[in-house]
Amino acid sequence: MRINKYIASCGVASRRKAEEIILQGRVKVNGKTVEELSFSVDEDNDIVEIDNEQIGLDENKVYIVLNKPEGYITTVKDQFDRPSVLDLVKDIKERIYPIGRLDYETSGLLILTNDGDLTYTLTHPKHEVDKTYMAIVKGIPTPEQMKEFESGLYIEDYKTAPAKIKIVKKDEEKNYAICQIKIHEGRNRQVRKMCRAINHPVMRLRRVAMGKITLKETEIGKYRYLTDEEIQYLK
Ligand code: URA
Repeated sequence: MRINKYIASCGVASRRKAEEIILQGRVKVNGKTVEELSFSVDEDNDIVEIDNEQIGLDENKVYIVLNKPEGYITTVKDQFDRPSVLDLVKDIKERIYPIGRLDYETSGLLILTNDGDLTYTLTHPKHEVDKTYMAIVKGIPTPEQMKEFESGLYIEDYKTAPAKIKIVKKDEEKNYAICQIKIHEGRNRQVRKMCRAINHPVMRLRRVAMGKITLKETEIGKYRYLTDEEIQYLK
């Protein structure tokens, strides 16, 4: 098995993250550092270590969906010592990590797993999994602006892929709209940047679905396990 796939299957990181770890020279096979991504592991006999700690294939696979509150980071740690979503899943003993990111100030659906292959399916742009957001935006988008949003617009030097936007509520007096937004790309702060590009900056943002996976009744700050059917759907 290729070394990055092996590391992902051990539940240590996604395949892409595994490649980074390999290129950083942190992986040893049978005591020797391996930096070639094409390296093949004999999963029955080789001893694979990351940062001098042995990894193996026998870890239980865990899949959860967390209802992230605002005010949490989705990385393990940051320079400001802000709370991490991992603080909310401390009772799970497997080393799980989030699939994709949500901004510190965004709330809602976040899938966490130790299954690196699943990470790959959900985040690779070629799979085009729709992510659905509810956004409270300043002002009320016009039909022209919504068309521009849907057909693709420039953020920085990049043109976004087709997206969807629908107004579900508007308040002309208070000058805001609640919009349902669907995108399948996952660039940094993409929804916020797209809304700003049509002059309707986001005031609050919440992710409500990834593909067919929804939060169901999960309370804010709590998580639920994915059902077997949901896991199969994601694979
Ligand atoms: N788009 C954003 O702008 N922020 C998120 O957290 C997710 C998508």
